[in-house]
Amino acid sequence: MAELSLQHIDKIYDNNVQAVFDFNLDVKDGELIVLVGPSGCGKSTTLRMVAGLEDISKGHLFLDGKDITQTPAKDRDMAMVFQNYALYGHMTIYENMAFSLTLRKENPNVIHKKVLAAAEILGLTSQLNKKPNQLSGGQRQRVAMGRSIVRSPKVFLFDEPLSNLDAKLRGATRREILLLHKRLKATMLYVTHDQTEALTLADRIVCMSMGYVQQVGTPLELYDAPANIFVASFIGLPPMNLFDAKVAGDELILEDAQSVHVALTPEEKQTLAAYQGKTIVLGIRPENIEEGPGIPMTVSNNENLGMNTLVYGNIGGPGGPKVCAKLKGWVGHTFGDQVQLTIKRKHLFDKETTNAIR
Ligand code: ADP
Repeated sequence: MAELSLQHIDKIYDNNVQAVFDFNLDVKDGELIVLVGPSGCGKSTTLRMVAGLEDISKGHLFLDGKDITQTPAKDRDMAMVFQNYALYGHMTIYENMAFSLTLRKENPNVIHKKVLAAAEILGLTSQLNKKPNQLSGGQRQRVAMGRSIVRSPKVFLFDEPLSNLDAKLRGATRREILLLHKRLKATMLYVTHDQTEALTLADRIVCMSMGYVQQVGTPLELYDAPANIFVASFIGLPPMNLFDAKVAGDELILEDAQSVHVALTPEEKQTLAAYQGKTIVLGIRPENIEEGPGIPMTVSNNENLGMNTLVYGNIGGPGGPKVCAKLKGWVGHTFGDQVQLTIKRKHLFDKETTNAIR
């Protein structure tokens, strides 16, 4: 069992920089939580406070109901996997994986069994006698994970473990981590700035900005019902298109392209009842746009990705607000083409609070 509870946690560094504000989260046993957000938003600080590598300035941390706020890192029964692997170059892979158990003076037979079992899980059995510099980046990352697995910690902590790998290896290693999680059924906290990693790995995502938690939820919840403009534009690739738009009866009028009127459904009109005559922010995901009667766009770029085409352009003519549409299949527009776009799904946000209007 490993349930974590972070309650009203703040981090204020010695130079008075507050990196984390009132962080609250209950992590269930066996859950894989991904902390995601842009660089500097406080993800690593939060992870390091959980690990015990940074003091918690305010608030409390519980592991299985026990307050461990003041417990030293070595007594927390957690294992951290870093992005730079931190392997010992002069030791073999076997010795690297056995190291923490050897330090603890575990029985050599037990150590041997644990190292072999971890190597088997990670596909490293044939690499055990090699030195780290004889392995690829992906293999080294697996050794770093193996070092954590042999300790059978209550909680695994990952700090951007894939950021030193190239794109192809990143995808493969990401899938390995997911399999590892399924196999170990361990509680895991995983930090990344990459929204794709968050969407593909997490049971639940914690999306952060400037030290504050913006939204906690399943990947689908964050994608489908982002709580505010920050989450809406951070989750999803290419990012959501955002336009200032005035609510006028059963239409929206784009502020920067007044000739463009976007029809509201009866439900949307009802949702926006309190916003008549006001300016809101209209969000449209590129994948929620199709070619068809609706909004006129002048094409500026056309990127064929195989299954899809990203078509960039300006709404209502050149100089109008920029838009990106992700169209199905291989579409061959060129600069200056006039096309019509149909919107399949809208997201609506309050311009003042930036929160979703529901
Ligand atoms: P992230 O992991 O999301 O990139 P960090 O948690 O590393 O963000 O940093 C959050 C904020 O705290 C940043 O503004 C960063 O400059 C600041 N910070 C991080 N470490 C320290 C430190 N040791 N002393 C002072 N400020 C720090």
